[in-house]
Amino acid sequence: MKKIIILSLISVFLTSYSCKFTQKAYDSTKTALNNANIFTPDDDIKLGLQVKEEIESDPKKFPILKESKNREIYKYIRGLKDIILKTNKLKYKDKFKWELKIIDNDTILNAFATPGGYIYIYTGLIKFLDTEDELLGVLGHEMAHADRRHSTRQLTKSVGISILLDAALGNKQSVEQIIGALINLQFSRSNESEADEYSVRYLCPTAYNAAGAAGFFKKMLDRPVPPVFLSTHPSPKNRVKHIEDLKTELNCQGTRTNKDKYSKMKRLLK
Ligand SMILES: [Zn+2]
Repeated sequence: MKKIIILSLISVFLTSYSCKFTQKAYDSTKTALNNANIFTPDDDIKLGLQVKEEIESDPKKFPILKESKNREIYKYIRGLKDIILKTNKLKYKDKFKWELKIIDNDTILNAFATPGGYIYIYTGLIKFLDTEDELLGVLGHEMAHADRRHSTRQLTKSVGISILLDAALGNKQSVEQIIGALINLQFSRSNESEADEYSVRYLCPTAYNAAGAAGFFKKMLDRPVPPVFLSTHPSPKNRVKHIEDLKTELNCQGTRTNKDKYSKMKRLLK
């Protein structure tokens, strides 16, 4: 009887142990699959360049603000982007392009970055924000999507492997299909949270308020009709809390907002 009990205890132990092991293996496989990326960082640059060409050949949809008439504002916003790069917190700081252009559309409150670090920011968003740390927070968020290679990870998951392989072999139609998918790509909630988190990490060593991105979401919440993209993303209230909690946790000391300078600079937009 005793023997039977011991044996069954051993078998229970073994079952639960192997079960745990399997669960662990399953979890790590799942994480690995979620983070899988069949593209190389060089592919990110190539794809990004193709998306950039696509964007800049469609001035109706993406009217790029003329540099010749807006030298000062371009210099200013690119200077903000450089503050983030100089923190040395980006893995692909020297490899990716980190080129920034402004899209002349006051009705769109958005910014985005392609793989490989081509960043676009709408005049609507520049005008909507009030301080430099808010804009830095948004830029940090977009740069994190590029630096953490969220687009190509998402593509690995969402575009069929045969299309990706065809594209790798140079099939033009497949390449076009991928670029189309990239332009309309929706990031997952976990990618959005990660980009929020990295925007705090990038700003933490600077003199600026590291929770600048939270300022953007707070302003969004105050609007009578919140923009559609907020409803498909993690709740802005949770994002504000997540960003502010991380700033506290990392003990980020910066407080700079440069409100006056920012409002003076945004009046330069022509
Ligand atoms: Zn995002």
